[in-house]
Amino acid sequence: MFIGHFGVAFAAKKAAPRVSLGALFAAAQFADLLWPTLVLLGIEEVRVQPGVTVVTPLDFVSYPYSHSLVLLVVWGAAFGGAYVALRRARPSAGLAIALLVVSHWFLDVLMHRPDMPLTPLPGSTRVGLGLWNSLPASLAVEFAVFAGGVAVYLGATRARARRSIAAWTLVVTLAMIFLASTFGPPPPSAAAVAWSAEAMWLLVAWGWWADRSRSADAASRTDG
Ligand SMILES: [Zn+2]
Repeated sequence: MFIGHFGVAFAAKKAAPRVSLGALFAAAQFADLLWPTLVLLGIEEVRVQPGVTVVTPLDFVSYPYSHSLVLLVVWGAAFGGAYVALRRARPSAGLAIALLVVSHWFLDVLMHRPDMPLTPLPGSTRVGLGLWNSLPASLAVEFAVFAGGVAVYLGATRARARRSIAAWTLVVTLAMIFLASTFGPPPPSAAAVAWSAEAMWLLVAWGWWADRSRSADAASRTDG
């Protein structure tokens, strides 16, 4: 899944109004932020194999550290705990971050072939419902989750400036990147996949920047 993860992060702003959208993006996409670096280090493995699913040509050979359910629970607890400790945030903010990290696994299970491991151990059970084998179903689910999440975000925040261009351009850019990667040619190599996936960090920064152009109503009421 790609923009669906961002959709869930947008929606989480309602539950955690004081947490920046950048941190929410980083949590929902924690697995995909960790993954390309592990691939480039040779610790995890992906192959480009056009036809492996209808939507994506990527064959996720092994990604136990970034994409197993057990380790995402661990990463989620660590990220949420560190956020509460460093930002002196409420435990509910840490819980929202932890749940977002784990949500990545469930959303990926929906789309992937049975390649999502339960544990990081060799020979772990791997699951996946394979929605990527249907282009219309994949587009429908990705855009429904994304649009729903953006709608929740826009309802939970209001523009500080007359227009929050940073937020709107972010939404359009995410949709364009998703469409380009879905309908574009397959990437030339696994390394190219990993290097372009590192651009996810820029989207986290953009989320942080765009969020500054909007204020969360609930937050301004309780901040005093
Ligand atoms: Zn993923």
